[in-house]
Amino acid sequence: MVLAAEIGQLRWMVMFDVYKVREDFPILCTDVHGRPLVYFDNAATSQKPQCVIDAVIDHYAQHNSNIHRGVHQLSERCSAAYEAARSKVRGFINAPRDEDVIFTSGTTDSINLVAQSFSSAYLRKGDEVIVTEMEHHSNIVPWQMACERSGASLRTIPFDDQGDLELHLLKEMISDDTRMLAVSHVSNVLGSVNPVKEMVSVAHGHGVPVLVDAAQSAPHIPVDVKDIDCDFLAFSGHKVHAETGIGALYGKSEWLQEMPPYQGGGGMVANVKVGGTTYAEPPLKFEAGTPNYIGAISLGAALDYMTGLGMNEIAAHEERLTEHMLESLGRFEGLTLYGDATLRCPVFSFNLEGLHHYDVGRILDKMGIAVRTGTHCAEPVMDHYGVTGTVRASLALYNTIEEIDVLLEGLERVRSIFA
Ligand code: PLP
Repeated sequence: MVLAAEIGQLRWMVMFDVYKVREDFPILCTDVHGRPLVYFDNAATSQKPQCVIDAVIDHYAQHNSNIHRGVHQLSERCSAAYEAARSKVRGFINAPRDEDVIFTSGTTDSINLVAQSFSSAYLRKGDEVIVTEMEHHSNIVPWQMACERSGASLRTIPFDDQGDLELHLLKEMISDDTRMLAVSHVSNVLGSVNPVKEMVSVAHGHGVPVLVDAAQSAPHIPVDVKDIDCDFLAFSGHKVHAETGIGALYGKSEWLQEMPPYQGGGGMVANVKVGGTTYAEPPLKFEAGTPNYIGAISLGAALDYMTGLGMNEIAAHEERLTEHMLESLGRFEGLTLYGDATLRCPVFSFNLEGLHHYDVGRILDKMGIAVRTGTHCAEPVMDHYGVTGTVRASLALYNTIEEIDVLLEGLERVRSIFA
């Protein structure tokens, strides 16, 4: 039995060699304050492999031209690369058709697109939108704004101290007045993986569409829109190892056909006359102006990279990191970890007794360890635990067990400095 388990472990290590993976990311060789960088701020943004950097440089150096407009060779090449990237996004999230994928500037932009477009068509006074208490501000504020404009109200599903949503309350809250359920797949503070498939099933039982914020799931676990059966799904390129300023929104085609455009301009029209305009078919209907086509190309390269490694292999590697992190943090005296959800991704928020999160973060930085401190754009989560902020260590596919040990040594040092 032991031998079988060891062989299994060995096979998996051969399939996902994290030390080899690290060689793909030039920045991981950087020293910070004279110490090797330990980058644990991946929930904010992740680092880029050389293949993504090369894709960007190559397109600027050899092919750059605005897309969908020119009749010349460069424009055709860039247009083809942009549409190929759309196809890669479709494959990554298992969407039915390329046309169901809209390029945006990121998760925030994607959610604002839906909140504005959907609410202008379907949200009226007396209606309700449901979000959760653990959302990033990006999945709260756009809905608050939509509710203010329409006279609808916003309701929130709470979570328990462990970081699991109080799912039974969704069944009580959802009603004939509910127009939208918007929920994060993975919390950016607690790492909780929310049961989005189950939530979609409840919502659809009442004819309510669901938007899934996949900003923190797309980097870590397979995301399958057909399996989840959500109506919309948003994620950001820069968190899945692509450039900043690019992201995607998936929408079921029946919604994208029906919803009005979010912004007007070039590229999103069929015909424009002084007396009126007809719009292009989705996805172009929602892509006004020159899109970030180089960003989209970088996203395609990043998704190729991740699928090349294998999303299941990435998830398995990160599960091992999570186990080690939980065990190490659990042994650390005076450390409070927020959230211990049944299913989780490698995002860990904590505080050290008697110390301010900012001070902890600043001292860790002096040791080359990059963590984030503060509210993580999720103030309702801070309010839930009655704290002003936390230290957040968020890991990615290139992080190692040894780096977790460096963090723990760092925390020991912080404690001894303040003792
Ligand atoms: N949603 C979640 C869960 C996030 O963690 C973030 C960013 O950290 C966002 C939305 C917003 O992403 P972006 O700033 O890339 O638009």
